[in-house]
Amino acid sequence: MFSKSVEAFNQAKCVIPGGVDSPVRSFSGVLGTPPFISRGEGSFMYDIDGNKYLDFVQSWGPLIFGHCDKDIENVVIDTVKNGLSFGAPTELETQLASEIVAMYDNIDQIRFVSSGTEAVMSAIRLARGVTKKDNIVKFEGCYHGHSDSLLVSAGSGMATFGAPSSPGVPADLVKHTLLSEYNNIAQLEKCFEESSDIACIIIEPIAGNMGLVPASEEFLAKCRELCDKHNALLIFDEVMTGFRASLTGASGIVNTVPDIMTFGKVIGAGMPVGAFASRDEIMNELSPNGAIYQAGTLSGNPVAMAAGLKSLQKLKADKDIHSRLNTMAVRLTTGLKEVATKYNIDIQIDTRGSMFGFFFCDEVPTNMKEVGKCDFDRFSKFHNEMLKKGFYFACSQYEAGFICNTMTNDDIDACIKAADEVMASL
Ligand SMILES: *Cc1c(COP(=O)(O)O)cnc(C)c1O
Repeated sequence: MFSKSVEAFNQAKCVIPGGVDSPVRSFSGVLGTPPFISRGEGSFMYDIDGNKYLDFVQSWGPLIFGHCDKDIENVVIDTVKNGLSFGAPTELETQLASEIVAMYDNIDQIRFVSSGTEAVMSAIRLARGVTKKDNIVKFEGCYHGHSDSLLVSAGSGMATFGAPSSPGVPADLVKHTLLSEYNNIAQLEKCFEESSDIACIIIEPIAGNMGLVPASEEFLAKCRELCDKHNALLIFDEVMTGFRASLTGASGIVNTVPDIMTFGKVIGAGMPVGAFASRDEIMNELSPNGAIYQAGTLSGNPVAMAAGLKSLQKLKADKDIHSRLNTMAVRLTTGLKEVATKYNIDIQIDTRGSMFGFFFCDEVPTNMKEVGKCDFDRFSKFHNEMLKKGFYFACSQYEAGFICNTMTNDDIDACIKAADEVMASL
């Protein structure tokens, strides 16, 4: 059923490291072969063997309107006809910036880049430049892209200076990254006791890169309080949650207000876009107004801007889209829980807007260490069997899942029925 994909994967491996351009696509965590995709349509993807999948990955988040949304597709085609890139300003950038800035009280200006990684990397530089301090605080299990100072996640229970989690990242560089446990106030406080040189705290306010693990309100309030007290900036990394968890992302759900926000994924509707935003006084320190340098040949690319703009306009026009998608996320996760319980399988479920998560474990995980206690074997089997039945879940328990606008209750119910058959043998 996967023979063409197996062959394509083998060919890819000869010329692309591991056969993939991003490691999460390799299916190595679930010991499988990734289906090679030929096309998408609405909630579904088709692979080169002709298999059809209900897609809960949605390109890892961007496609809140599903594959090949006609409005977005048309605007992209129209824009392409005017040229792919100019390296000069276009009105599309101002239009998308205005749409986004108008959605939040805490940001006045936004700058576009080409990926989430770039957005976060630039936000960190901005925070360091503005505060004139070098250290940053990051939490275990939060992913902020693959730039050097953020590729730090391994660490003991103690708040400690980070060790690089990849060869090629100089220890000299990551010594400026202080690691702390997510949702652990005592450890966070310790970071500020140990260092007076903290420029910022960066956090996924609703973590989606260790599965779906929300930060507690008290924890976020403590982040805010410590930043204010120590003249540091609070960065919300909303690359995944932005326009997904609610229209205004995690910020629309939690009570804490950050100084800087980063965006990606939905903001480009499937085109490569990232962005970072803050209030005037901070953004004015960026080049060319200020001295903090940041640039990009393809930044604010017109085709990407057009796709993002259309997507945001559609989201704004559809007032209850997030609650509708959440109802479906809840339908899916409670359905999974019901069938799991029927077979005495421990499962924890949660949703935020169009995001969902489930863990095979007996207690709700609140940090990376607890997520690590989940039954990864069971997840792997679940994943493999669901894939064979045509349900495409993220190939790791450390990933969140996504509902898109074209999914129907029938799709969800078919998935739960399949899960019932699969879980019977787990
Ligand atoms: C995906 C993601 C990133 C990185 O974005 P890329 O576009 O993959 O570079 C950063 N932060 C968070 C929270 C993400 O989910």
